[in-house]
Amino acid sequence: MTDLITEMRKDLVSGYREFRASDFHEQKELYEKLGTEGQEPKVMLISCADSRVDPTDIFHAYPGEMFVLRNVANLVPPSGVQTPTPGTAAALEFAVTVLKVKCIVVMGHESCGGIQGCLAGLDEGFVGSWIKHLEPARDAVRARSVENEQFEMELEGVRLSLRNLMTFDFVRDAVEAGELVLQGAYFSIISAKLLMMGDDGAFGEVSPE
Ligand SMILES: [Zn+2]
Repeated sequence: MTDLITEMRKDLVSGYREFRASDFHEQKELYEKLGTEGQEPKVMLISCADSRVDPTDIFHAYPGEMFVLRNVANLVPPSGVQTPTPGTAAALEFAVTVLKVKCIVVMGHESCGGIQGCLAGLDEGFVGSWIKHLEPARDAVRARSVENEQFEMELEGVRLSLRNLMTFDFVRDAVEAGELVLQGAYFSIISAKLLMMGDDGAFGEVSPE
């Protein structure tokens, strides 16, 4: 145990020192400004907690540009649902009513373990009760009898969370007032491809150049 904590601290400190020598070194003034004047991000990004999907990397966002919420399967349960930890709703409320973000992006991804769990019928533990919120997406995909169930479910999960966002009064009011837009996205890890959702709910690949 002692060895493990020593090793973990060493890794963390080594990463921190690299950050101080590189990114922070180049962005010193930006950090000072953000720390003094506060944050004013235009975008809230909801993505999976998966370590392979880092939204600030994918969108090349600097500190202060994105208010990021990460949870298992980039999921927004509908308003009013009792969850043991309503952290997702709290982050949403803060982003929309205090920071007044202009855009909420829900980004799904390839090989999502949360989606796999839902498709496999996992219903145990905290993960099981959390991914139950994906069941309407699973049922919609199964009703279409698609070829690639996992991929279609990853997209459908994004559509479901976008619909659920509109069940929060403060989100719906801001959208209807034209002050907030909602956007779906999808990241494929292997090829680093980004898909964006159009007004019709279909996802299209974004040209990388
Ligand atoms: Zn995931």
